Amino acid sequence: MAASKPSTNPNINIPEYEYADVNTTIFHIGSFRSEWLSRLKPSNYSYQREDEDTFDANFAKETGISAETLTDLKSICSVDSLRCHPEDQEPDTDVVPPDPTLRTLVQRKKRQDHRSSRKVNKNRHDLYADELERLTAGREPEAVVDMVPEGEVILTINVYYPATYDNFSYARPHITLLMTGSHSLAELRDAICCVSDLQVCGEFSNTPDMAPEFISKDHYKSAFFFFEGVFYNDMRYPECQDISMTVIEWAKARNFPPYSQAKMEDTRFVDMKVKVGFPYLYCHQGDCEHLVIITDVRLTHADDCLDKKLYPLLTNKYRVVTQKCAVCHVYIGRWVTTNDRFAPSDPCLFCDKCFRMLHYDAQGKKLGDFLAYPYVDRGAFN
Ligand SMILES: [Zn+2]
Ligand SMILES: [Zn+2]
Repeated sequence: MAASKPSTNPNINIPEYEYADVNTTIFHIGSFRSEWLSRLKPSNYSYQREDEDTFDANFAKETGISAETLTDLKSICSVDSLRCHPEDQEPDTDVVPPDPTLRTLVQRKKRQDHRSSRKVNKNRHDLYADELERLTAGREPEAVVDMVPEGEVILTINVYYPATYDNFSYARPHITLLMTGSHSLAELRDAICCVSDLQVCGEFSNTPDMAPEFISKDHYKSAFFFFEGVFYNDMRYPECQDISMTVIEWAKARNFPPYSQAKMEDTRFVDMKVKVGFPYLYCHQGDCEHLVIITDVRLTHADDCLDKKLYPLLTNKYRVVTQKCAVCHVYIGRWVTTNDRFAPSDPCLFCDKCFRMLHYDAQGKKLGDFLAYPYVDRGAFN
């Protein structure tokens, strides 16, 4: 890691990397956007595509090459020169030729061989990921009002599941989202799906059918983000409390620099000052803490998803390993029991079916003494 250098950049709205490859200096997202817009020509960020001839002419002019060189380059770099099958044959894109020389094909073959050796086909998760990308790239909205405006900023945001420090370097983002500068932090909060919000609190061994009525998200609505010394609290509902107060008071008593507060629903990204690459905090359900890292801030371009309604746009979701039922080892766990003489361990995880078959008679009467808590697996929403 390089040592921090005093900034030589006179314009504080152009972010610089404070530590190489780690995070940038702090900058104001709205001003960064204005900076871009003042330096670019509208045609640079317009969604209107130039026709090929104009593009070629501009490209040649900007790179200072002759029309002849450009023609040569175009034919050398053309996708047609990447063919590894006879010209008069339509290739089957699912079949990788036996001895590929193109690097992408070598990689693909490796993957395919690996898959077939493990006898797994492309699963629903991979299919879904491909689908997601195909559906959103360059997608335009049905109604013009839903068009993401030209020159809007797009932020790439990684959200991590809580992890212990030792394991953190191996942690992968749980989700990656694209959001626009006009989104609020409350919209980011709503886009973060965490099982802590879906846990059902309480012991339900006597009334297992009652369980799903109390979800912690409906009960405990308070949450905050912490960005650059400011706690952004969710205050949208009357039940919301300012849960950042405890930390602020604690910090005050220990001579930390003062922290301030704001509402997440009133804070849009364009109005914020952030560091790209810097870990910020999202805290909900009292102590469920996620790291939030903005990894990129840029202008939109024609190849982005241009339909406002599809944002926040989920671009990547990490698949979490699911905890299976201790009896059937097939279904995802839905119940945790303790003090349970039917269970092989204490606590023990059951799927709904096994749980009911083992613990209740045909009339639904509880058999024996045990405590049962509903359980929502992290991977239940893979
Ligand atoms: Zn959480
Ligand atoms: Zn089971």
